[in-house]
Amino acid sequence: MEKNSRIYVAGHRGLVGSAIVRNLKQKGYTNLIYKTHSELDLTNQAAVRKFFKQEKPEYVFLAAAKVGGINANNKYPADFIFQNLEIQNNVIGASFDFNVKKLLFLGSSCIYPKMCPQPINEEYLLSGYLESTNEAYALAKISGLKMCQFFKRQYGANFISCMPTNLYGPNDNFDLNSSHVMPALIRKFYEAKVNDQSYVEVWGSGKPLREFLHVDDMADGCVFLMENYDGEQHMNIGTGKEVTIAELAETIKDIVGFEGEIKFNTDKLDGTPRKLLDISKLESLGWKYKIELREGIKATYKWFKENYMFS
Ligand code: GDP
Repeated sequence: MEKNSRIYVAGHRGLVGSAIVRNLKQKGYTNLIYKTHSELDLTNQAAVRKFFKQEKPEYVFLAAAKVGGINANNKYPADFIFQNLEIQNNVIGASFDFNVKKLLFLGSSCIYPKMCPQPINEEYLLSGYLESTNEAYALAKISGLKMCQFFKRQYGANFISCMPTNLYGPNDNFDLNSSHVMPALIRKFYEAKVNDQSYVEVWGSGKPLREFLHVDDMADGCVFLMENYDGEQHMNIGTGKEVTIAELAETIKDIVGFEGEIKFNTDKLDGTPRKLLDISKLESLGWKYKIELREGIKATYKWFKENYMFS
């Protein structure tokens, strides 16, 4: 990638895409292309092809997706599989037809089987049943990474994939019904503190283990892969460290300064018990995360207080 290459970041307003844009700008890339949802509907194949024909991007970061936390994924599986397949088919297909030099497809660690050995090596893909709460999203993402592999294998297209662990950071979705656990708990503890509530409800048993990567680290890793990796194998990206949801809740409670109780609601789903990524492949290429969890949560909490508009 040259500093003046035409680089399209699909999904530039979201958690992932906005972090990729920040990272590319910091590294001196000057020719970034992006379109808002209202300017370009990525589920519309004709519109996507017209856009590629006109703008002729040379590099594509495919960070656009319909995403959500455990509740949204569990409730709307048809939307998650259909819209994600549409978006990725349109962008990957147009990238091939309009001669994009390289594409990075972003997925998620939920692509791996529910009862996978830990830490999860890239090779464990498709070795068992998926976690049911996010099966629809996972199937779309598995199709996307396989599609990149197959375009590479059959046509020599330079399409690569990266599977991040649970992400957090600025521009996340803080809506309590559709968000992931990190933004949900930041918001819940903040609101409990300002409203002087006696407790905060945390879903599930608090026992599931999760790995969290700050999205600025993820973006740095994605740009690193775009600059340095051409392999067919998809690449995990994470920290290699995990915490229980109960530990996460305690940490956020402490950072926010909430003094009440934490109550676990076991009527809500736990989801997969554990999903820790094996990140040795990416580390062996020379990339490692930098932002430790506590530091990352503090920065995200600060961003939330300064930027989030309560509806
Ligand atoms: P997952 O990693 O795909 O399961 O997605 P989430 O980030 O939505 O959930 C992670 C874990 O946090 C699950 O065990 C949830 O039950 C738990 N959790 C605890 N409180 C909350 C909450 O307020 N919102 C969400 N989304 N998850 C929560």
